[in-house]
Amino acid sequence: MKIKRKVTKKIYVGSVDIGGLAPVRVQSMTNTNTEDIDATVEQITRLQDAGCEIIRVTVNTEKAAKALPQILDQISIPLIADIHFNYKLAIMAVEQGAHAIRINPGNIGPEKNLDKIVDCCKSNSAVIRVGINSGSLEKDLLKKYGHATPEALVESALRWISRIEKRNFSNLKVSLKSSSVLDTVTAYEQFSEVSDYPLHVGITEAGFGVRGIVKSSVGIGLILAKGIGDTIRISLTGDPVEEVFVAWEILKSLGLRYKGPDIISCPTCGRTRINIEKIAKIIENEVKNETLYFKIAVMGCVVNGPGEAKEADIGLAGGEDLGVIFKKGKVIKKVDGEDRLIEEFIKELRAYIKSLKKEEQLP
Ligand code: SF4
Repeated sequence: MKIKRKVTKKIYVGSVDIGGLAPVRVQSMTNTNTEDIDATVEQITRLQDAGCEIIRVTVNTEKAAKALPQILDQISIPLIADIHFNYKLAIMAVEQGAHAIRINPGNIGPEKNLDKIVDCCKSNSAVIRVGINSGSLEKDLLKKYGHATPEALVESALRWISRIEKRNFSNLKVSLKSSSVLDTVTAYEQFSEVSDYPLHVGITEAGFGVRGIVKSSVGIGLILAKGIGDTIRISLTGDPVEEVFVAWEILKSLGLRYKGPDIISCPTCGRTRINIEKIAKIIENEVKNETLYFKIAVMGCVVNGPGEAKEADIGLAGGEDLGVIFKKGKVIKKVDGEDRLIEEFIKELRAYIKSLKKEEQLP
C-alpha cells in the first residue's frame, strides 16, 4: 500500500519547499536560550546533521530576536521564530532574517497587531504558521462548541486565515493542536477537507521517553497515513536530536521518506543461539552516519532467518556453530562463530554500501 498524499499549496520557508509535491519535511525546535548564540548554533548543527530540515527557535526577548542574524550566518537550514504574546517580537524576528514565524493568533492581542505582522511578512517574503492551540481558543468558539472540539479548532483556523487573506497574504501554513491525540487527528482531517494550505503536524506535550514517542508516533502516524501533513515535528522532552531520529523512523515506516538504513532484527525466540541485541547494536553503530537507504536484517537462526528476511538487501543469521550472510534471502557466505560472523558481515556491509548509488535512491 502506498499513501496517497494530499497535494497542498506550495510555499517556501527559505529555500525549503513545503506542500505541493514536496516530501514531508522534518522539523525540530531548539531548547536552548536563543540569546545564547553558541549553544543554539551548536544544537542546530547537531539537528541538521541528524536530518532536521527546518528549525524553530523561541524568540521571547529583543535580545533573542537580535541574535538571529548571527545564528542564521552559522546554520544551513531555514529558521522559524516562535512567537507568543508580543507582536513586536514577530516583526523584529522577520526583520532580523527569520524565514518564517509561528504565531498563535489567540495570544497575539488585538487584530491590528496581526495586521502589522502580516504586512511585515509580506514585505520580507516570510511565511506565517498559524498555530491554533486548544488552550487559547476564542471565547465565542468555546461557548459555541462547549469546549475545544476539533470543529472549534478548525473554525478558529479558518477565521484567522480569512483575516490574513483579506490583507492579500497567503504564504501560510497551519497547525491545529489539541491535548487529545484523537481530537488532533480529527481536526487535521476536517481542516484538510476544506482547505489546501500546507499543514504542520505535531502532537503537543507528548511527554518523554517511550510514552512520548508512542503518543507522537500514533498521532502523527494516523494523520500521515491519511495523506495529510507537509511538515512534522515530534515533541519530546529532552535532547531534540532524538525528535529528528523518531521523525525519520515514522516517515520511513510509512514509506514516505527514506534516509539511512532500516535495520530489521528478529524478535528472538527459543531457537535463537546468538546475541541478536548485541549484534544489532554493533551494526547500528556501524551505519549511524549513513544516509543511503537500504534494509539490513539481523536474524537469530540459520534455518528460518534468511527466508523470514528475504526483503532485506543484506543480512546475517546465526546458529550455534555456523552463521550465514545473505543478500535478498540468498546465502552468500557461511562463517564459524559469532565474532567471525560479525567481522565478515561488517566487511560485506561496507562493500555493499560502496556499491550503492546515490542517484538511485528513493526521496
Ligand atoms: S529468525 Fe529464528 S530465532 Fe529469530 S524469531 Fe525467527 S525463528 Fe526465532
